[in-house]
Amino acid sequence: MRFGALEAGGTKMVCAVGTEEGRILDRVSIPTETPEITMPKLLAYFQDKDIEALGIGCFGPVDLDRKSETYGHIMMTPKLAWRGYDICGYFREGLNVPVGFDTDVNGSMLGESTWGCAKGLDTAIYITVGTGVGVGVLAGGKLLHGMQHPEGGHMLIPARKDDSYKGKCPSHGHCLEGLAAGPAIEERWGAKGTALADRQEVWELEAYYLAYAITNYIFVLSPQKIIVGGGVMHQEQMFPLVRKKVTEMLGGYLKTKELENMESYIVPPSLHDDQGIMGALKLGMEERSQCQDS
Ligand code: ADP
Ligand code: ZN
Repeated sequence: MRFGALEAGGTKMVCAVGTEEGRILDRVSIPTETPEITMPKLLAYFQDKDIEALGIGCFGPVDLDRKSETYGHIMMTPKLAWRGYDICGYFREGLNVPVGFDTDVNGSMLGESTWGCAKGLDTAIYITVGTGVGVGVLAGGKLLHGMQHPEGGHMLIPARKDDSYKGKCPSHGHCLEGLAAGPAIEERWGAKGTALADRQEVWELEAYYLAYAITNYIFVLSPQKIIVGGGVMHQEQMFPLVRKKVTEMLGGYLKTKELENMESYIVPPSLHDDQGIMGALKLGMEERSQCQDS
């Protein structure tokens, strides 16, 4: 049986076909332009692939409330051409197969919990630190949705006393994304993250903000594992810094076997950058079995 997977990003759309075992058989990457230009190309890719269902991990915010009239639509994105766009409906009509839908970060979380380092866990989070910051949450063995989906990247954070940067988020200034996403690093330090690799103070401050948010996620969600990916985390020197600061910020309040082994608690993704597309594949598989049950 073959399933389609779409990782819908703000700069590119990764389309793939894979099996129930999570094996990716074929993939292409198509630039994200406007829906009018991009969507027919995506549809054409999937149309002759004989897929049983399609799963989409999408940039957000998105409407995940199945009772809502705009379920499966992209919501208040700054990418204006995509605002309000019914991405799910387009594929449902065009392909006539079940379409599973979730955020990109929930998709990555699902990839890791199905085939990666969070396999078998009940509660875990997946954080991406890139152009923005996103947080996918697995709680009680399921992706957490609530009203729509968590927006952990916008957790409000006070600036460190020695940091006078105003923050880049247009809605909050000082939220995790506004203080610590790639564009905030670039604006604060006047150079892209890749050019700042040997500036220790950059990664020390970055690790401080990540640790601050992660400590709060730990208190609220009690995750058994925390996976941190995205372009900025290619600065791998941050992992030991983040683990150390989280331990300090927890203040000895929690004692668990997971927290005793920080190296296996706060970790990079385990699926070699395929966690998003594999998660989308699983979203398609889950939607198909739900449709068969009902
Ligand atoms: P996106 O979030 O758009 O899907 P990425 O996860 O690759 O894409 O994140 C892009 C951001 O990460 C950019 O702001 C870029 O400057 C930053 N980035 C990419 N690679 C590195 C690196 N090696 N070190 C630090 N920052 C990086
Ligand atoms: Zn924000």
